[in-house]
Amino acid sequence: MKYIGAHVSSSGGLEKAVLRAVEIEATAFSFFTRNQRQWFSPKLTQKKIEVFKQHCVQYHFHPYQILPHSSFLINLGHPVDIELEKSRLSFIDEVLRCEQLGLIFLNFHPGSHLNQITEDICLKRIAESVNIALDKTKHVIAVIENTAGQGTNVGYCFQHLSKIIKNVNDQSRIGVCLDTCHLFSAGYDLRTVKDCEDTFNHFNDVIGLKYLKGIHLNDSKKQFNSRVDRHQSLGMGTIGTAPFRWIMKNKNFYNIPMILETTNPTIWKEEISWLRSQNI
Ligand SMILES: [Zn+2]
Ligand SMILES: [Zn+2]
Repeated sequence: MKYIGAHVSSSGGLEKAVLRAVEIEATAFSFFTRNQRQWFSPKLTQKKIEVFKQHCVQYHFHPYQILPHSSFLINLGHPVDIELEKSRLSFIDEVLRCEQLGLIFLNFHPGSHLNQITEDICLKRIAESVNIALDKTKHVIAVIENTAGQGTNVGYCFQHLSKIIKNVNDQSRIGVCLDTCHLFSAGYDLRTVKDCEDTFNHFNDVIGLKYLKGIHLNDSKKQFNSRVDRHQSLGMGTIGTAPFRWIMKNKNFYNIPMILETTNPTIWKEEISWLRSQNI
């Protein structure tokens, strides 16, 4: 099965995210399990957990169709120890929330070196942060997202992601989510079928497709290799429709959540329906 959805709002209650996914006829979704602008949030009550789980069962969303996204405040490669500690505690809290909700993935952005440490040291800090979080939790898979390489973000090339993965102790609990806008902005072309094949073959060589746990389907507002992260609706940006058609037809992308983070939520339903129509 191809699982297609969008990053939906969870305002008003986590179960509302499920209902919003249903409204746009999604078979996958992403959401924040808490207010992403705060470091910490009140603990989930048993009641809230039950309501969320019950909605997932009722509307047929299995944990492998759901890719929660962690807070943007978290920097698991922070150069300053006291700040790194805060990020680590916040991340552990998010992994625990996912486990309480019966979820199996948590998507996160690797981190930034802030021009205070080298990329290499930053990547090692990130791997250590992941190790700490996995040690303190039971089963959630930490899913690293590739970045556009904006500012001092690391994770813009496959070698970075590979370095993190290699330094994680439990390889069964680490995965990757590829964001098409970030790939393109970071210099991985996707504009033709050949570009898509080359980029994903390269990913398979450096990391391995078995680590791919999700895809973010976004066109880009910025030029190729701009290192700027600006999403656009499918086919309306600088990438075009080629990768989205190619991904939909490709057998390698079954059974993972594929999530729109495109800029116009009012056309998500149409975008999902168009994507589904390419899956022939
Ligand atoms: Zn993201
Ligand atoms: Zn993304």
